[in-house]
Amino acid sequence: MQPISIQVVGGSLGGLTAACLLRDDGHDVTVYERSSRELEERGAGIGFLSATAKYLVDRAGLDVGEISVATDHIRYLHRDGSVAHDQAHRYYFSSWNTVYRRLLNCFDVDRYRLGHELVDFSQTEASVTSTFANGEHATSDLLVAADGIGSMTRARLQPEAQRSFAGYVAWRGMVPESELPREIVEQLGDAITYFVYANSHILVYPIPNIAGSVDPGDRLINFVWYRNYLDGGDLDDLLTDRDGVRRDLSVPPGAMSRRHEAEARATANARLPTVIAAVVEATEDLFIQSIHDIEVNAMAFGRIALLGDAAFSVRPHAAAGTAKAADDGWALAAALRREPSLEAALATWETSQLALGQSLLARTRDVGGRSQVTSTWVPGDPDLIFGLHRPGD
Ligand SMILES: Cc1cc2nc3c(=O)[nH]c(=O)nc-3n(C[C@H](O)[C@H](O)[C@H](O)COP(=O)(O)OP(=O)(O)OC[C@H]3O[C@@H](n4cnc5c(N)ncnc54)[C@H](O)[C@@H]3O)c2cc1C
Repeated sequence: MQPISIQVVGGSLGGLTAACLLRDDGHDVTVYERSSRELEERGAGIGFLSATAKYLVDRAGLDVGEISVATDHIRYLHRDGSVAHDQAHRYYFSSWNTVYRRLLNCFDVDRYRLGHELVDFSQTEASVTSTFANGEHATSDLLVAADGIGSMTRARLQPEAQRSFAGYVAWRGMVPESELPREIVEQLGDAITYFVYANSHILVYPIPNIAGSVDPGDRLINFVWYRNYLDGGDLDDLLTDRDGVRRDLSVPPGAMSRRHEAEARATANARLPTVIAAVVEATEDLFIQSIHDIEVNAMAFGRIALLGDAAFSVRPHAAAGTAKAADDGWALAAALRREPSLEAALATWETSQLALGQSLLARTRDVGGRSQVTSTWVPGDPDLIFGLHRPGD
């Protein structure tokens, strides 16, 4: 296909990866991001699968070791802190912030338009037009909607694809290694460390710091702790911040209700191994993200393509959300290169990416259920290995 004009709505990891790839193929690409400032604040850790790293490694020529921390063990602890299971396995961990900054450096700054919240769109046979909250409009051949879990494009195009609460929330936090006792950093710094107990689990791993440094001593220790809440009043109460505002999906650092923050710290001390509880305790500001499943049955709608969490939002247990978003971008670029028309490209792309989203959603639902519902999560089970297409891949 000849190069076309493309607007990408949503400038996070999914949107930026797609934008860079499509720009590399000669398309005329502009990104429109709702946030009025560069997305600086999100320093939380991510399991860094190869699809997420692929653009930065293959196209930008970075070494994976510059942008992530490698760990060589999967380790499970008993409540008393002794090792329940240890297996050699290499994972890479990065942070949202580190990957975002590197991707943004690869894109043209004047084509990354902050402060552009999509509020309306329409399409004809020849083009698609977006309207932004600031009153501007953009018209192009293709709109790639990478507007995340709360996607307004999905809400308009697939109103039946409602999010469904998984029954649990991720409590999260990060602590500089320099603020933890040396023996704790030594125990947690070379592994992903799990503790599994009734209807819950927590995982801890090292990540780059906010500035992107991966040097030992500079890094952060990151945790993700899955805890169950009833939908309705229980969840409403948790998502109500310290100023009494009911947040939609998450409560950011510094805004958690002090009552819930105190309860989480007390529960960590009561239920978690001391080495992990110490990380929770040392975290300045805990924050939460509620976990939801979202499944679409179409990703291409005329001249509009839904990508990443704007299409499927999956539970984090495969550490593959950003990898899926990146894979959607790689597959879209390949389809546009290969197929004779936009219509044909979107049709082949949609077939492969729907299958990917469906299989990842099913796998992550199963893994989450084993931990949070049936308590049948067995350390060492190969099904629990992170991966986009299947465990380990
Ligand atoms: C607890 C937890 C742990 C996770 N762990 C991992 C992990 O280990 N590894 C991993 O790969 N993934 C992980 N994920 C998943 C990952 O965070 C998401 O899958 C990923 O961020 C999706 O990227 P995206 O670009 O599709 O959407 P998002 O990152 O949500 O970005 C959407 C963007 O669109 C913008 N936007 C929204 N609406 C509009 C609008 N109307 N107009 C313009 N812009 C708009 C937003 O401001 C935002 O920048 C985790 C998620 C959670 C909740």
